[in-house]
Amino acid sequence: MDVIAHALWAGAGVMLAQRRWAITRRTAAATVALAVAPDVPHLLPILGWSAFGAGTAATVKGYAIAVPGQEPAVPPGVEWLSHNLHCVTHSAIVAGMAALLLWMWSRSLWIPLLGWWSHIVIDVFTHSADYYPSPVLWPFTRQGFDGVAWNTPVFMALNYLALAATYLWLIRQRLRVLAGGRS
Ligand SMILES: [Zn+2]
Repeated sequence: MDVIAHALWAGAGVMLAQRRWAITRRTAAATVALAVAPDVPHLLPILGWSAFGAGTAATVKGYAIAVPGQEPAVPPGVEWLSHNLHCVTHSAIVAGMAALLLWMWSRSLWIPLLGWWSHIVIDVFTHSADYYPSPVLWPFTRQGFDGVAWNTPVFMALNYLALAATYLWLIRQRLRVLAGGRS
């Protein structure tokens, strides 16, 4: 899914959780940041190649919004690194290991990891077999689930409508609580 929608869904999740639990602004911001972060590292090799190599800003943009088979040509090493970074950040196995290691270290679940998890779960269902299936089980397989590609106009429209409805509801609920608190 696109990064803006990832951020908005994570933000909605945080607002919903805040109805029950005390979540600091810092944790909320980190959760939203981690919901966006998985889509950043794989662009770095392309950015580096554009800054220091033969690539251009148009290559970066072309790569970020590419459709299968029409990606801009990049050197094999850059492509390899980019592809593998994408696999690392979209793997439930990697995210699970990270959660486990952090838990062993701090004996608690680091809440912002849920932002990363939300990204992985959403991407599994919003990519299709012919639109970059999400490598959720990497490194065991690069195969993904055949979901609904998020870049189809109908999905985009429905997704943002659902987001608008969710935020309207959340804001109304919050206003109701505030009004109740005053009376
Ligand atoms: Zn993603």
